[in-house]
Amino acid sequence: MAKTQRTYDLDANALASSLRGELIRPGDASYDAARKVYNGMIDRHPALIVRCADVADVIAAVNFGREHGLLVSIRGGGHNAGGLGVCDDGLVIDLSLIRYTHVDPVARTVRVGGGCTWGDVDHATHAFSLAVPSGFISTTGVGGLTLGGGIGHKASKYGLTIDNLLAADIVLADGRFVTADEQHHADLFWALRGGGGNFGVVTSFLFQAHPVHTVYAGPMLWELEQAPAVMQWYQEFITQAPDDLNGFFAFLIVPPWPPFPEHFHNKNMCGVVWCYSGAIELAEATFRPIREKFPPAMNFVGPIAHPALQSMFDPLYVLGHQWYWKADFVNKLSDEAIERYIYHGSRLPTMRSTMHLYPVNGAAHRVGKNDTAWSYRDATWAEVIVGVDPEPAKKDLIVGWARQYWKDVHPYSTGGAYVNFMMEEEGEARVKASYRDNYERLAAIKGRYDPANFFRVNQNIKPAL
Ligand SMILES: Cc1cc2nc3c(=O)[nH]c(=O)nc-3n(C[C@H](O)[C@H](O)[C@H](O)COP(=O)(O)OP(=O)(O)OC[C@H]3O[C@@H](n4cnc5c(N)ncnc54)[C@H](O)[C@@H]3O)c2cc1C
Repeated sequence: MAKTQRTYDLDANALASSLRGELIRPGDASYDAARKVYNGMIDRHPALIVRCADVADVIAAVNFGREHGLLVSIRGGGHNAGGLGVCDDGLVIDLSLIRYTHVDPVARTVRVGGGCTWGDVDHATHAFSLAVPSGFISTTGVGGLTLGGGIGHKASKYGLTIDNLLAADIVLADGRFVTADEQHHADLFWALRGGGGNFGVVTSFLFQAHPVHTVYAGPMLWELEQAPAVMQWYQEFITQAPDDLNGFFAFLIVPPWPPFPEHFHNKNMCGVVWCYSGAIELAEATFRPIREKFPPAMNFVGPIAHPALQSMFDPLYVLGHQWYWKADFVNKLSDEAIERYIYHGSRLPTMRSTMHLYPVNGAAHRVGKNDTAWSYRDATWAEVIVGVDPEPAKKDLIVGWARQYWKDVHPYSTGGAYVNFMMEEEGEARVKASYRDNYERLAAIKGRYDPANFFRVNQNIKPAL
């Protein structure tokens, strides 16, 4: 039965006073800051933001949202390009206060609160010379990145982030709290590893960590004239590289500040950002033949503490820039495809805009495509094209460039894309294409755990009933 405005207000007041966190409403001093997400293009106005301090707050928020028929979004790190952490007129379950880490150095595991960023995890694990495979930047939320898959520097050695997920505590749509792992709610545990925020609010993650302290890593950059040869070589090289060596290919514009020499400032170039996670004494011998084959214009590869590598790009990409993303999975780069990649890659519209090819190789590649919900284990790369700029006035420019780039290279792709690199607007067919034959199983599990599609502000999987 529909509730009256007065009942709603009374219930909202009761919710506010029951929380250990806080309830933020339009008109509150903190409202505008609380509704902001990483992508400055997103400007949504929720009716309520529940900043949860603990699991009890999350349960209360889920129950309130369900009882009042509200649209509900879950906000982890707020990094999602489509702004899926926030919604218009609904309720945002904001996990940013649930931010703790607990490392067990003997078991080499780390328990992580649902609102942590990867910087929090790197900070905690590095003290024990451990690390969990994550992404390429430290400000991204653990929640969204993990539930979508998690592609990063250590994918070839230790797999995707989900391949290192041991358990998740989750508040379901009916307000129940369960732990999902291989032994308990195994169907849900399977779905959480790639199925995004479709199944509930994950309040804590338990990860396997690995011995990582100092890696040999950084960018190697070449002039654009070398791009055809470098791309050809890179495709052969990276698909046969040992698990210890990972590297993503990029078109980029050199930032106009140190450590880049002035004559390269604002220059459109290509490069590979390497990460060698093997024995440090073997690193030089690994990179020497690459430098000899293609002497780079700039080489920043060297020993670096793991958290420093993970936060290397943080200063370039800060909160509030305009972002527009397009993506695909790619298996092979034909000569024709390479030509198209280079055409658009050498016409980057702004200094921060870029195109990356992230390898899905080594350990990430060897997991079976039905072993987790993340289907594209057989892809060679997850490609992402991102238009980025601090200026809202550049919105049309970066959107137009990214769309055209994608349109021209999409025919050479597999058809699906990494869900974490898609904007909200891409629709059901793209989501299905990204999960392939895992979609049906995901829909069945969604039907069991969230039959009313209560959690639908995500790359949505429709419940099969
Ligand atoms: C600068 C930048 C760099 C990136 N680099 C990488 C990378 O290297 N590798 C990679 O794999 N991805 C990368 N991404 C993509 C990233 O994985 C997604 O944007 C992801 O959605 C961000 O997670 P979040 O928690 O910060 O997002 P949010 O916007 O908070 O949430 C995104 C989605 O995840 C769900 N969600 C978040 N937390 C939870 C939770 N605790 N429980 C249930 N659902 C939850 C939300 O419902 C929402 O649908 C990058 C993004 C940015 C902006």
